[in-house]
Amino acid sequence: MALAAAAPSNAVAQAAADLNLVTDTRVIGDENRTRFIADLTSDVGIRVFSLADPYRIVIDLPEVHFQLPAGTGAEGRGLVSAYRFGLISRGQSRIVLDATGPVRVDDYFVIPAVPGAGEPARLVVDLVRATPEEFATAALAYQESRAPTAPIVVPEANDGRTVVVIDPGHGGIDTGAVGLSNTVEKQVVLAFSLELAAQLRATGRYDVLLTRTDDTFLSLDQRVGFARAHHADIFLSIHADSFPSSSTVRGAAIYTVSERASNQIAAQLAAGENRADILAGVNIAANDDLVADILVDLARRETNRFSVALARDLVAQIEAATVMSRSPLQEAGFVVLKAPDVPSVLVELGFVTNPDDARNLGSESWRRATAAAMVGAIDDFFATRVAGALRP
Ligand SMILES: [Zn+2]
Repeated sequence: MALAAAAPSNAVAQAAADLNLVTDTRVIGDENRTRFIADLTSDVGIRVFSLADPYRIVIDLPEVHFQLPAGTGAEGRGLVSAYRFGLISRGQSRIVLDATGPVRVDDYFVIPAVPGAGEPARLVVDLVRATPEEFATAALAYQESRAPTAPIVVPEANDGRTVVVIDPGHGGIDTGAVGLSNTVEKQVVLAFSLELAAQLRATGRYDVLLTRTDDTFLSLDQRVGFARAHHADIFLSIHADSFPSSSTVRGAAIYTVSERASNQIAAQLAAGENRADILAGVNIAANDDLVADILVDLARRETNRFSVALARDLVAQIEAATVMSRSPLQEAGFVVLKAPDVPSVLVELGFVTNPDDARNLGSESWRRATAAAMVGAIDDFFATRVAGALRP
């Protein structure tokens, strides 16, 4: 999947004026030795490490602004098949190189800028072909040098109001689907989530929290961890779909979690959404514990009944506001829905690859109407289906 440079908001553009800019990237060399180069306006410190399954090289650097043409990184060369870049957390940017196979970082360095001569700073990473064993040794050495990072858990006092956690999908280095008229999933789902949050807050009935309110990357288990830490009563993950082989496929759909997907398309979609961490260069192995624990948690069976009820309410209300997919109620194995104690649904608002859906996703009035329908569904869910059952 090609990751386009993010179209910055005004606030971001303002902050970017003070930031180090990446103005050009290129890959040179062949299948034995490949060099990745990035030009920057000023010097940076970098950290380089490798990750397996699939083979990736990760370059971490302080927050920079990527001023690169759309489509940059879609194609690589030599040992690099493609690359992505963006914000991975506040103050930290990341470049992820997808390797064609096992590789070794032969050298990496930053050549300082020469402002008088108009020479930019130059970040260079040299890769050479390696055996799987050499690759594994390097990846392991890195993991051992680094303490495991736990998901951010900020327990908060619950004032007794219903807590709704809204999770705008993707963000930062992970753009999500990119479709027609440069419709970028991470941007349209954030705009929709902010509208939905504002409308839910306006009712006075809900405490509304968002997993992200700007263009920041979050791993899937950070999103799940956020919902659990804040004692969410419901969790809504907001996404947009893509179907590159046909522009006529369109419509919204609501997903709940299941080990078995309702059909092949649902399975593919879940696999795509679950790849977010891989694309962003997150070490899945280090985060496996939470997901493994969650998978065996029997509490989820009870939770899932509520998730399905919420999904039905959402379909019933959203139908009036927008075009639905042919089978709007679906199940699949989304990692982000696997909190054992929080009823969770994933809303696919529409297809960025369909012209009508793409237009809707960019329309403020469509967002307002569709968010209003979702507020109605959430009201219905708590009023009729739950009736206190979620709380002691
Ligand atoms: Zn998505």
